[in-house]
Amino acid sequence: TELPADPILENSRRQVSKACFSLVKPKLTENPEMLHVSDDMLINLGLTEADSHSEQFLKVFTGNTVLENTHPYAMCYGGHQFGNWAGQLGDGRAINLFEIEHNHTNWAVQLKGAGETPYSRTADGLAVLRSSIREYLCSEAMFHLGVPTTRALSLALSGDSVLRDMLYDGNSAYEKGAIVTRVSPSFLRFGSYEILSSRQDVATLKTLVDYTIKHHFSHLGVPSKESYIQFFAEVSQRTLEMIIHWQRVGFVHGVMNTDNMSILGLTIDYGPYGWLEDFDFGWTPNTTDSQHKRYRYGNQPNMGLWNLYQLANALYPLIEDAKPLEAVLDAYKTDFEVESLNMMRSKLGLQREEDSDQKLMQDLEDNLQLSETDMTIFFRNLSQFTKDNHAEGLKVVADAFYVPNEISSEIRQKWNIWFQLYAKRLETETLSDSERKELMNAVNPKYVLRNYMSQLAIDDADKGNYDLIDELFQLLKKPYSEQPKYEKWFAKRPDWARHKVGCSM
Ligand code: AMP
Ligand code: MG
Ligand code: MG
Repeated sequence: TELPADPILENSRRQVSKACFSLVKPKLTENPEMLHVSDDMLINLGLTEADSHSEQFLKVFTGNTVLENTHPYAMCYGGHQFGNWAGQLGDGRAINLFEIEHNHTNWAVQLKGAGETPYSRTADGLAVLRSSIREYLCSEAMFHLGVPTTRALSLALSGDSVLRDMLYDGNSAYEKGAIVTRVSPSFLRFGSYEILSSRQDVATLKTLVDYTIKHHFSHLGVPSKESYIQFFAEVSQRTLEMIIHWQRVGFVHGVMNTDNMSILGLTIDYGPYGWLEDFDFGWTPNTTDSQHKRYRYGNQPNMGLWNLYQLANALYPLIEDAKPLEAVLDAYKTDFEVESLNMMRSKLGLQREEDSDQKLMQDLEDNLQLSETDMTIFFRNLSQFTKDNHAEGLKVVADAFYVPNEISSEIRQKWNIWFQLYAKRLETETLSDSERKELMNAVNPKYVLRNYMSQLAIDDADKGNYDLIDELFQLLKKPYSEQPKYEKWFAKRPDWARHKVGCSM
């Protein structure tokens, strides 16, 4: 017989039906050590710096103490992975501790890497230091970039060793185990709804959707077919906005499976993500996706839509009318084009709309791919372009080119033509060069978490030095500001990091 939820605290791996979560206990760890705490998140949760140094804080946020009257749980969800339905996945290594309400905001607090759950399948429920550093730094950096994201409160060592396959040489090795405390208004994913629909468990599906609307979309009012359609429309809109932000800053998620799509339109599950260095629509940081490149930079908008189709299918039993769902999906396509063009206008400091803008952007994107061109440096330095001086355009962005020798006279000419167009286009605007510069610098970051930067922090951390984690954390709090003492991080990826990518496990 099937029980509605787990009545006892046992974490054995199994299919969990007619339930959205299972109660679990975090694993006790050998020798926990707090490595870093986000001061912003402390404040958001109503905690103090003094709290963060306490024994209690260390124990709670490494899973060694479960607070009284709290009931940690792992969530059940499924997902489409790389285009195929994968069945039940769930929080295999995430455990929700509790929720905190502070300043009228509700935060769910969860540990990643705190031990096995019913959803761990063949894996161990643990996380290693390198992937934890990457998630911790990147999720906070994304917040400061203005990209919707889950947050992180703390990064800790568990004190345990974790066995991992090394992706590159096929061998196994022990690595330092770590635990990140993640924080978000909700960790619900598209896959949370898909799993229920796939099991034809419409009753639990309705319970979950009603819960989601009540707690996170309460302005939609009481449950009805109409509010379910509105709910889907809002999820679609939020997903679109999130992906526009990714495209703006050059973030590539790497694993846009439906289990990694937040119902709140937040960037979630920082695995093999990466940042565009040379501007390339075909780039993905995910080595397991190097053949089809499903989740490449230029395909993220389409994959957002594909995932929304799956969510529409999952919600269909509650709506029983395909038309309004299709209308939402159609709107995503047209809205994306409009919003994408607006986003590019903002990157170029354009406030008006001109019919010719589409072509201006197309030519720019073509040029950016003529030779290896650093996206971040290009757009940041472009703010120094002056419209009366378009012949100097190439000079203004020269630092962005990885291989200056590659810039043939033909490429030069293409750029000069573009800068001439841009200068002409700027004549139709009212802003002065310096006003435009200020606007552009507020949307084109100076500092992003390039892969080699986290790699350096990881290498140091492996040797027991955690200073660089803090330096990058502080740097990335102000990604749009000039920070002279950190100028060395405004630089092209060094040659040694050229073909390295991030690891997810
Ligand atoms: P991801 O690709 O990281 O989004 O993970 C896909 C699924 O695998 C999710 O259900 C994760 O919880 C699960 N998973 C990944 N790593 C582990 C691990 N070390 N132990 C248990 N489950 C894991
Ligand atoms: Mg995931
Ligand atoms: Mg290229």
